[in-house]
Amino acid sequence: MQIIVIGGGPIGLIARTALEQEGHEVRQFDPSTEKPKMSLALAESTLALLDRIGVQLDVGEDLTEILVNEQGLPGSMLLRASECGYPRFGRVICSLALEAALTEHTSDRVEPLSVSQVRARSAQHNPSVELASGEMIHPDLVILADGGRSGLTESLGLTAQRRPFDRSAIMGRIQVDTPQAGRAYERFIGTGPLAILPIESSTYGFVWSLDPAYAERL
Ligand SMILES: Cc1cc2nc3c(=O)[nH]c(=O)nc-3n(C[C@H](O)[C@H](O)[C@H](O)COP(=O)(O)OP(=O)(O)OC[C@H]3O[C@@H](n4cnc5c(N)ncnc54)[C@H](O)[C@@H]3O)c2cc1C
Repeated sequence: MQIIVIGGGPIGLIARTALEQEGHEVRQFDPSTEKPKMSLALAESTLALLDRIGVQLDVGEDLTEILVNEQGLPGSMLLRASECGYPRFGRVICSLALEAALTEHTSDRVEPLSVSQVRARSAQHNPSVELASGEMIHPDLVILADGGRSGLTESLGLTAQRRPFDRSAIMGRIQVDTPQAGRAYERFIGTGPLAILPIESSTYGFVWSLDPAYAERL
């Protein structure tokens, strides 16, 4: 089959890798050439899926413990994967390293073009995809992996349910003097949850979820 994948994020790349392995001819489009660099905690089930399609991640760090606590309250909770019967909860990896591992398995690079319109299959015609360059393609199948924000879903007459969280996230990296191998931290501070994820040796990534106005001030 000739397949078009719209979007070159993790979902689009995973879909393409799996489809190419099944022998399908895939073209993939994404206009954004600079992807955000962030720490991703991949669950064990995601790692198993990647393994099934031949993607082994030899970068990042296994997540074996999570220390949870709340600012101002005594005590904390330490979750250990071994006590839950697992060798690890998952693996923390830089999003760019995940992208590199996935693109290593694909035949061609993602074409840096935006898709401006998609039409669904009709009784007479294959689906159609129109690129911002004006090129029209009539593949057998279209996979929409645009992160749900491009408006293409709505243009197909599909409705999406959106729930505003009214939260912003600040992300970054920190270096620590005394790293605890494999341990992540989930700390509930007054402004919102702060997750700290081990990336490698003394480097940690953090995601701090907070009120948008406060994030703007910071
Ligand atoms: C702060 C933060 C922390 C997170 N932490 C984690 C985590 O620890 N673990 C985890 O598993 N997930 C995490 N996530 C969620 C994760 O980032 C998303 O689930 C994931 O990126 C979704 O992948 P996707 O491919 O569906 O969409 P996206 O990553 O949004 O990619 C969609 C792509 O489609 C492209 N696109 C859009 N419109 C078009 C168009 N018209 N034509 C062509 N291309 C188009 C965009 O340029 C984009 O590159 C986090 C998210 C945030 C914001």
